[in-house]
Amino acid sequence: MAGPDEFVESSTTEEQLTEDNSFQNLSLSPHDVLKKAPRTTCTGTCGKKRRYYCAECLVPLLPTLEQFPSVELPVQIHILQSYAEVPQRSTAQHVALLAPDYAHIWRPFPECVPEFEQRVTKGAKTGTVALLFPGDEALSPEQAVAQLPNLEHVIVLDASWTKSTVLLCEPIFKELPRLTLPAGARSRFWRYAPKRSEQSEFFSPDKVESLVSTVEAVHRFCEAYNIALGKSSGLCDNLLWLFAFLHGRVKNVYDNAPQKRRRLMSKSKGMLDHL
Ligand SMILES: [Zn+2]
Repeated sequence: MAGPDEFVESSTTEEQLTEDNSFQNLSLSPHDVLKKAPRTTCTGTCGKKRRYYCAECLVPLLPTLEQFPSVELPVQIHILQSYAEVPQRSTAQHVALLAPDYAHIWRPFPECVPEFEQRVTKGAKTGTVALLFPGDEALSPEQAVAQLPNLEHVIVLDASWTKSTVLLCEPIFKELPRLTLPAGARSRFWRYAPKRSEQSEFFSPDKVESLVSTVEAVHRFCEAYNIALGKSSGLCDNLLWLFAFLHGRVKNVYDNAPQKRRRLMSKSKGMLDHL
């Protein structure tokens, strides 16, 4: 399936964009600064032309003095990103770009595990590190607040579902408590599950329905965790600031560009109905 760049780089003018109300219940900063952001040379080390941000160097690319919103999270988020995940296509990068003081991307996984262990889990006190992944013993955010009062670090796997289940065999995860997401609305991610995943024993139709992108998972967990801590709702909504903007761009193409829509539909197998 085509990457988001194909849609966000389209010649569609700002005036032609239809209003995307899919995220109207969230407290999001205005997207004006993204609408006027030019394609520019990355200020990081890659030297490539990018628009909005560079997913490899993890730097925002906005006109001078304009900034991304900065989000505070209730815990440190460590995203272990599979070598197979393409940074420019992953929403994990959104988390690191929007909460740079709280989110860290470790890649390629599993090769990065020794360094991750050395810097995060080695010597960590029991109950301070947990893994966000479903399981029979997984704790809800409310249970985590009650049973893991010293929780500081939450690990998130950024890999396909089938690959994640294989990577879970890494010894590093054996003793870690697990966390699960609260039920929520269906994902609004615009990618579809690879066919080989659909055929996996781990990938029943109900699991397709419950799958969310990495940034949606982190947002959903942190929102529920904040509420369980007695904090206000919406404190980390800006984690979805880039996601909501790009969703609007893709939706605009879907709604207004028949040729691209046909191609999207043929590749998505109906998974874009929820856009
Ligand atoms: Zn770069």
